[in-house]
Amino acid sequence: MSKENILVINCGSSSLKFAVINPKSGEEFINGIAERLGSPEAFIRWKFEGNKEREELNGGAHDAAVAALLTMLADKGLKDDIAAVGHRVVHGGETFKESCLVNEEVLQAVENCSHLAPLHNPANLIGIKAAGKHFPGLPMSVVFDTSFHQTMPAEAYTYALPYEFYRDHGLRKYGFHGTSYRFVAKAACEALGLPVENSKLIIAHLGNGASAAAVLNGEGVDTTMGLTPLEGLVMGTRCGNVDPNVFSFLSKTYGYSLDEITDILNKKSGLLGISELSNDCRAIEEACAEGNQQAQLALDVFCYVLAKQLAGLAVATGGVDALAFTGGIGENSDAIRGKVLKALSFLGFDLDDQKNLDCRFGNEGVITTDSSKATAIVVSTNEELMIAKDTAALI
Ligand code: AMP
Repeated sequence: MSKENILVINCGSSSLKFAVINPKSGEEFINGIAERLGSPEAFIRWKFEGNKEREELNGGAHDAAVAALLTMLADKGLKDDIAAVGHRVVHGGETFKESCLVNEEVLQAVENCSHLAPLHNPANLIGIKAAGKHFPGLPMSVVFDTSFHQTMPAEAYTYALPYEFYRDHGLRKYGFHGTSYRFVAKAACEALGLPVENSKLIIAHLGNGASAAAVLNGEGVDTTMGLTPLEGLVMGTRCGNVDPNVFSFLSKTYGYSLDEITDILNKKSGLLGISELSNDCRAIEEACAEGNQQAQLALDVFCYVLAKQLAGLAVATGGVDALAFTGGIGENSDAIRGKVLKALSFLGFDLDDQKNLDCRFGNEGVITTDSSKATAIVVSTNEELMIAKDTAALI
């Protein structure tokens, strides 16, 4: 093995995901996660050569997790083959239009974006600093969820609010899941033999967090998420689009504070809120099969809102060559894909039921008929590989 592997780190407020990837072959040598960081139950677990292992961190936080990661990678003989560290960062504001190498100026600029993602950017910075300390001398990069969407035109990202909020504080639509969109746009065009520079794609990234994007000639031109990842589609626990007046309604009706309402909209809504059962799509589908009416309603609302917003994104691309499904739900739920494509048949989608059923559990491919005017395709996303590729290109 030559020294060309990338350590990819994705840091949350109490978790740290990691993987060591060869950016050329895509081979992933190890992956894992440290969770409950900063609590007495903190631990790190990983999968290496088919084996799952785990180590307690005894109350350690991010720094302890990166220290344990370093020791473990050295034990496995992986450390010396790492050429650089690539970090996922949630918010790059309007500053970061692409990935870049870390230096003091870049760290300051990421910190300056923290007001836009107060739960995420500070955690990302902690991960970057811990990795810098424990892997001294290795170049590091930052790859942003928002940067893919920086090509959106002003008419797509401007909210109809007093303009001074944008001018003074950057209040606008940013969009997220950009690393996934970049990966999927390229993979879908390759699979379909479409020239990227002359393509109209709609991509639905449907996981526990869900969004969709309009991609014209390889560039993001609109997306469903907004200033924060709450806007847009119905998600596992997030409400997506609602009347902004729900804030005053809930405040007046229940006396909730701003923080409590924010928490309800982010963590207690979506599939979970409607079904009163689960945020997990599989659990919802199972309950539907058993005749649970509220689970059915949750699924119906999810699909209806999704279809409606996908159709809306076609305005940004001026038509659709292909609609790509990705993320845990997009890659696995034939039921949701089928329902959504039937609702979008007026755009020229003709679903092939068998192909749709076949595309699950890692199987990718086209799910519309050969005579379908518009194509729908399932693509497995790989954000970690995209981060590794960006990092390798930068060094
Ligand atoms: P992600 O956030 O991309 O990991 O996606 C998580 C979501 O994918 C959860 O709602 C899962 O229930 C859903 N999911 C995973 N596998 C399936 C499946 N076979 N059928 C339906 N939903 C699935």
